[in-house]
Amino acid sequence: MAMTREQIIQGVMDAGALPTLSSVASKLIEITGREETTIYQISSLVAQDVSLSAKLLKVVNSAFYSFPNEVRTIQQAVAILGTNAVRSLVLSFSFLDAEHARRQTGFDYQRFWEQSLATAVAARMLVEEVETDVDPEEVFTVCLLENIGVLILAKAFPEQYDAVLRKCETDAEELFVLEERELGADHSFVGCHAARHWQFPETLVQPILYHHDPSSYQGGNREMEKVVVVAYLAGLVANILYSGHPLEYADRFRREAKKRLGLKSGVVDQVFENVNREVSRAADYFGLKIAGTPSVPEILQRANIELATLNMSYEQVNRELVEAKLELERLNAELEEKNRYLEQIANLDGLTGIFNHRYFQESLNREMNRAVRTGRGLSLIMIDLDKFKNINDFYGHQAGDFVLKEACRIWGEQLRDYDLLARYGGEEFIVILPETDVDEALVVAEKLRQTTAGHEFDNGGERYSVTASFGVAAYDPVDVNAGRNLLIEQADTALYAAKEGGRNRVERYVAKKAGWLKRLKG
Ligand code: GH3
Ligand code: MG
Ligand code: MG
Repeated sequence: MAMTREQIIQGVMDAGALPTLSSVASKLIEITGREETTIYQISSLVAQDVSLSAKLLKVVNSAFYSFPNEVRTIQQAVAILGTNAVRSLVLSFSFLDAEHARRQTGFDYQRFWEQSLATAVAARMLVEEVETDVDPEEVFTVCLLENIGVLILAKAFPEQYDAVLRKCETDAEELFVLEERELGADHSFVGCHAARHWQFPETLVQPILYHHDPSSYQGGNREMEKVVVVAYLAGLVANILYSGHPLEYADRFRREAKKRLGLKSGVVDQVFENVNREVSRAADYFGLKIAGTPSVPEILQRANIELATLNMSYEQVNRELVEAKLELERLNAELEEKNRYLEQIANLDGLTGIFNHRYFQESLNREMNRAVRTGRGLSLIMIDLDKFKNINDFYGHQAGDFVLKEACRIWGEQLRDYDLLARYGGEEFIVILPETDVDEALVVAEKLRQTTAGHEFDNGGERYSVTASFGVAAYDPVDVNAGRNLLIEQADTALYAAKEGGRNRVERYVAKKAGWLKRLKG
């Protein structure tokens, strides 16, 4: 549940979440705000704190400043750096000291100050790259403290803020947007309030307030405007190092640095190249132990590789799935094909390639059932090659085989698609003619007979003349006595009659006259 801004400030106060400044720091802010303050007064104040003085001199003499001559006294330091720089350094020490040591559950103080230091260092680097009379020390302090509101909110509303941080990890939304939405105010607002509470000069306050949204600074002070922009850009650099979304922030930094500071891409590259090393150095000067980060180019490269591998493995997985699916489909098709083939060869006669006896029996059942349903009869033609034994005997078994195959081939050409030619056994064949009455079947049989007799069986050299005999029988579905075996028997009887009649003939089945009728006639 979002609160009002007043409620937020009240909550911060109630929780005692505002960090307390060291007495030297707060005094320093007070006296540097007065025009009549002398360098002597400032240096006397700082010198009161021995450890602070030592740290200050260490930093001033470090490569952070690289002055040609050693700075031996605080007075010298104040004279060389200027009042603002000394104030900024003292503030920086004050915060880095006070907050760094503190560890609280939930919020990562170490990481917070490390990122703040990175922001401050990046800001100094940016200021050095652009022509401006902005004080680098002031910018350093501004940026060190620009996110102080985060610390305060985390301390004042630990649970809610933890939820905001967790949301920030998964959400595309930026932290300050989530703070505003979830809590009711963002860390810029809270940080600004704290800075005013500490009586920071406006040169520190305004950039803290606008560091996420430099365009809304409308104060009209060009220098301050620059500081705001630098605070904003430095925050982006720190996010490259610490946010876990380095590519997005690097892109945005390049774009915004070009737009707002006119930074050339070569300069951006240099900042990227050096910022992590500068952060480590600064930590050293300030006496901080930090984990540090790899360089920006390294971070970006890693992120790019991760992105690429992510995409690649996704594509690869996808490709493999598609391939596996295609392979499976191919195998299935192959299997179906094989099954079809197996089924077919199970139904086919090995020598002639026409249907075998078993399939004929099944088919006859099927066709007779259909005939019952449609009421339309079917016919059978039983075929037997004449004196086939002779062919085997004269020309050999292979010649006999050839004749069997060739006969089937020429018969097949004469039949309709839905007629079924099968090998009944040996040199006997049978044709099922669905929806065909006996007269039509006789015509077909006669055609087959003529085709056989007229065909020259040419075995690539030897030629044979072959004839066959045909017996035709018809099935009447209305006849209650008719059945499969009876029908076959009748066809066989007719065939026998054809043989008896002299072969190379077609005979139809004729019911034998009953014994008494025969006797009566005979
Ligand atoms: P008919 O006119 O009375 O039918 O005389 P046929 O010689 O055709 O009759 P028979 O039943 O005496 O002889 C059939 C022959 O067919 C005997 C057998 O060796 C031969 N035969 C049966 N199956 C095959 C085969 O697959 N290949 C070969 N080459 N001959 C076969
Ligand atoms: Mg025969
Ligand atoms: Mg026979």
